[in-house]
Amino acid sequence: MKKPYYFLKRCSDLSKYAIGNVSPNPMVGALIVHNQSIIGEGFHKHFGSAHAEVNAIDSVNITDKSLIPESDLYISLEPCNFFGKTPPCTELILKHNIKNIFVSNLDRTSGIDGQSLLYLQKNQVSVRLLQCEIPQYNPVRFRNVYAAHKRPYIVIKYASSLDGFIGRSNERIKLSNSLSDRWVHLLRSYCDGILIGKNTALSDQPQLTNRLVPGKSPVKILIDTRLDVPPENGFYNSPGKKLVYNFIKDEQNGEIHYIKLTDNDDFLSQLLTDLYHKNIGILLIEGGSYTISKFLEKELFDEIYEIRTRKVLKTGIPKPKNITDLKQEFQFRDDIVLRKYVQRDRLC
Ligand SMILES: [Zn+2]
Repeated sequence: MKKPYYFLKRCSDLSKYAIGNVSPNPMVGALIVHNQSIIGEGFHKHFGSAHAEVNAIDSVNITDKSLIPESDLYISLEPCNFFGKTPPCTELILKHNIKNIFVSNLDRTSGIDGQSLLYLQKNQVSVRLLQCEIPQYNPVRFRNVYAAHKRPYIVIKYASSLDGFIGRSNERIKLSNSLSDRWVHLLRSYCDGILIGKNTALSDQPQLTNRLVPGKSPVKILIDTRLDVPPENGFYNSPGKKLVYNFIKDEQNGEIHYIKLTDNDDFLSQLLTDLYHKNIGILLIEGGSYTISKFLEKELFDEIYEIRTRKVLKTGIPKPKNITDLKQEFQFRDDIVLRKYVQRDRLC
């Protein structure tokens, strides 16, 4: 006898196939289970496309369609209850006469957040909400931070030398090895935006693209309050959309979009709200030290990755201070990747 956890875990595993393709929509998987047998399964594949529940129901073999009203629906996220790019899944569940649903996460979007489950219960659907995900690996966490806080899910990443430096000013220093680099590009492919500050643009001239693994490149984002980074800089000369946050001008120039900030005291919040409205669901911050420290000061982060290398620099820019609770996550040859995760929200 398989327990609900078994099927909900399968939903979560299915949802992960969509990583990098649906944000800021949630990654969601769904199953139709009849007498312990999975007769349908699906996941939300692309931003704006059919939801997991729709794909799961559609996947049921024509000869098994009559079994749907006697089947249980398992979903890794509370169903939607509004007409967006697709009709509400709550109505789909009622239309198919599904009597039992199992859900592993609430959707923290305003207007849903438990309301869909209550609505289904009022319509004689038995609903069980079961916590069964490890929070730091729960695929729904990206979406729920975005929905509840109205800002992107923020991931900070930096590489450090063994003696605690992340680089030198005005000099491009390579710390991580080629395997770590591939992992960083994979991380980039999962993110919607990648942000750096002026100093990193000036010293590293980074392209900030994903060139080493299949998948997308994120939108490039630069904080350059006085527009000191010259147009010939590598940041401007790499392909792709660029957002440049500054205090000087609002202007669109081909792929470059200058956005004027007005709030001197809290421009990070203003920037993050703007990114939220631009559908940047997951934001990767790649430096440098000053920019990272600003996000740390305001506790604006959800995950931190430190790639701790064996290189020794002796002098340079110190790595961000006061980051505690880093735990080893991966090892790529000599490089160790440490991670800190902050749970900002209840997910169930
Ligand atoms: Zn839906």
